[in-house]
Amino acid sequence: MSNVETEPAELRCGALVDSAEPTEAPGVEVLAARDVPLGGPRAMLVRRTLPQRARTLIGAWCFADHYGPVDVTTTHGMDVAPHPHTGLQTVSWLFSGEVEHRDSLGTQALIRPGEMNLMTGGYGISHSEVSTPRTTVLHGVQLWVALPEEHRSTERDFQHHIPEPVRVDGAEIRVFLGSLAGAVSPVRTFTPLLGAEITLEPGAAISLAVDPAFEHGLLVDSGDVRLSGTVLRPAELGYVPPGVGALTLVNESEGPARTILLGGPPFEEEIVMWWNFVGRSHEDIVRARADWETSSDRFGDVVEYPGDRLPAPALPNAVILPRRNPPRG
Ligand code: MN
Repeated sequence: MSNVETEPAELRCGALVDSAEPTEAPGVEVLAARDVPLGGPRAMLVRRTLPQRARTLIGAWCFADHYGPVDVTTTHGMDVAPHPHTGLQTVSWLFSGEVEHRDSLGTQALIRPGEMNLMTGGYGISHSEVSTPRTTVLHGVQLWVALPEEHRSTERDFQHHIPEPVRVDGAEIRVFLGSLAGAVSPVRTFTPLLGAEITLEPGAAISLAVDPAFEHGLLVDSGDVRLSGTVLRPAELGYVPPGVGALTLVNESEGPARTILLGGPPFEEEIVMWWNFVGRSHEDIVRARADWETSSDRFGDVVEYPGDRLPAPALPNAVILPRRNPPRG
């Protein structure tokens, strides 16, 4: 997926600032989504919950787009032309439909429901994402992970993993990154991470042991879910700060509820995000943009995409002031 906002803000995110004011006991912070067109005249809308003014990172998770269900037999569907990434990994996870991924490693892969595709941009990669003609309903998420300094220029990579679902009382869990409910993903990450799909039966109430060093975010896809006392509606992301050893999820709706749980220890490095790049400075972003616009080898080529690649948006006229996560009590 590409961030195709026409005037993407340059975000400086990360290291937490000191907090002079007393804060209330940790509760669940509800983060609403905003609609962002994915590009083109008949653009598919995605619901973006990260980054946003109130929060830019949850662990190393730095971007969360949620889309569908959308009938792509009558709309444009997903058609994201070749575009670059640096300093991050992308995690694609579908609930329904099928997306063809092509990248500058030469990967050609189909992204299907319940199968994680993890692309490591590292120093540089480019890819395209197109929903397949046989897709009728497209529905899923795309998430980005910021790479820590020592690995942010790692080699490009692509991994595919199908997690075995685990059952707990009233819920089914697919752990695509990290560990939860006794399930452990074998996929290597550069910082500790949790990523899992949790589907709750109607009325189900579960408690999940989690790492108290992690902060967590629960993205609700469908249903109304009470997370540790706070009700989350579809498309909302509930944030739970570190220091919590268990999360309770209650499905308050009459149908099943589907959620995505993200977690990780707070990412302590400052990062700068602009368009599809994660860097450490404005200069990193300027260089990455120039490398894409001059077709440098840095990002490689995506073959057999029927169309032009995405041009980078214009850089802002000034260095955008840093934006950070809010103070934590
Ligand atoms: Mn992308």
